[in-house]
Amino acid sequence: MTSANVPITVARGDGIGPEIMDATLRILEAGGARLDIEEIEIGEKVYERGISAGIEPSSWESLRRTKVFLKAPITTPQGGGFKSLNVTVRKTLGMYANVRPCLSYSPYIATKHPDMDVVIVRENEEDLYAGIEHQQTDEVVQCLKILSIPGTEKIVRYAFEYARRYGRKKVTCFTKDNIMKLTDGMFHKVFEEIATEYPDIENEHWIIDIGAAKLADTPEAFDVIVMPNLYGDILSDVAAQIAGSVGLAGSANIGQEVSMFEAIHGSAPRRAGQNLANPSGLFLGAVQMLVHIGQGDVAEKVHNAWLTTIEDGIHTYDIFEEGVSTKKVGTSEFADAVIERIGRRPEVLKAVTYPATDEPITIRVSETVPAVKEQVGIDVFLHWNAGTPDELGAAIEGLATDGLKLVMISNRGQKVYPGGVPETFCTDHWRCRFMSATDGGTVSTADAISLLGRMHDAGFDFIKTEGLYTFDGKPGYTLGQGQ
Ligand code: NAD
Repeated sequence: MTSANVPITVARGDGIGPEIMDATLRILEAGGARLDIEEIEIGEKVYERGISAGIEPSSWESLRRTKVFLKAPITTPQGGGFKSLNVTVRKTLGMYANVRPCLSYSPYIATKHPDMDVVIVRENEEDLYAGIEHQQTDEVVQCLKILSIPGTEKIVRYAFEYARRYGRKKVTCFTKDNIMKLTDGMFHKVFEEIATEYPDIENEHWIIDIGAAKLADTPEAFDVIVMPNLYGDILSDVAAQIAGSVGLAGSANIGQEVSMFEAIHGSAPRRAGQNLANPSGLFLGAVQMLVHIGQGDVAEKVHNAWLTTIEDGIHTYDIFEEGVSTKKVGTSEFADAVIERIGRRPEVLKAVTYPATDEPITIRVSETVPAVKEQVGIDVFLHWNAGTPDELGAAIEGLATDGLKLVMISNRGQKVYPGGVPETFCTDHWRCRFMSATDGGTVSTADAISLLGRMHDAGFDFIKTEGLYTFDGKPGYTLGQGQ
């Protein structure tokens, strides 16, 4: 437990942001949180000043100094040219883990899953959110899905460390590695390897589709779930919603240095300025912050007061239900009700306890040991719309060099040459796979350049290439579907 005040950066945001931040900070203060608050401005007003990231350059200094950011939702202006503030802040400051506890408060808040208590640990920096997208032909656009081994190790270790720290019994991994054998396959493999270091915690893996169905149907079967960015983004909203309401969930974005705490909902502009909004999502994000900065004692006190308020039926409009709720209150009165209950613990809902530790969870990743990497082939992607796969194959076969031979042409991943069938739908985006002309041999840069020169001279529009490598003899590429 720290007794000194901890500096934090606070942004009041847009829409309902200032009201729910005010309510949250009042509860924290009443609970005895030891904080020195620095305020920064983010969001609409900053975007309007022409700053496309929605955050002033000077605000970064505050974030990097305090290393703790309590952030209210902001309104992202419509139209192009504006960057997502959340993505910018998370990625600039290396916040690799998004942690969203999703639990139900039955019978006080309606849910079909009264025993749900799931924590989603979502990878926060990689995957399709790298935002690397290209249009390559008239018909085809692509988005690169990038997963790194250290990035995966960090998030998986975080999930197990979180489980251990907070007395959780099981960590589940969701991937789609039956289809994405290299990317999701690596995530799954790293999960299995790291899991062996945590014999005290059960582990399991589900293919994401059936896992998501199970989560929506029987969430009480899960405890901590770790997954790549996109799946985590989608399923954490699903999980929060089926627990009761997205309006109740808080979220932590954890980095090695700087961390950010927020509600998962947006700025609800239509509810702004009316003292209506539920401050619970931001408040529960702030509870995660208190635990993170070593004020578990205050977190426990205010969280139990909040649970008691929910149990007493004092509810804002969004969770108010005739016959269950006892009083409909506004934002400010809800905060007053929580403050009045500081020192009480819930009787029906499970009271929380938090470890009074000073140490945030920190993760060390293993050093990368470079493998023996050899190029054994090259995929050349073409923009071409002048005929059938067999016609393309015949033209390309003739361009092979002494060092490289054509082994396959695919369209949208499906092999169409040699031996394609006319039913396969083809676009103007083709992949021609060349391998070393000698079985098991390697390919030189000169071979690859010579091949591209011949293709260019023959009038082919190659839009990109991918090297086909082996790492310590193991292929670093997948076969074409049907190859
Ligand atoms: P929203 O989450 O703001 O609102 C969705 C619905 O939930 C609305 O009906 C709203 O009234 C209700 N709601 C949300 N929070 C509530 C609360 N605390 N209490 C009571 N009711 C609540 O989503 P939206 O309308 O799609 O987005 C509004 C703006 O928020 C957009 O500009 C969007 O870009 C932004 N946004 C910001 C963040 C963020 O800053 N982290 C996240 C999501 C959306």
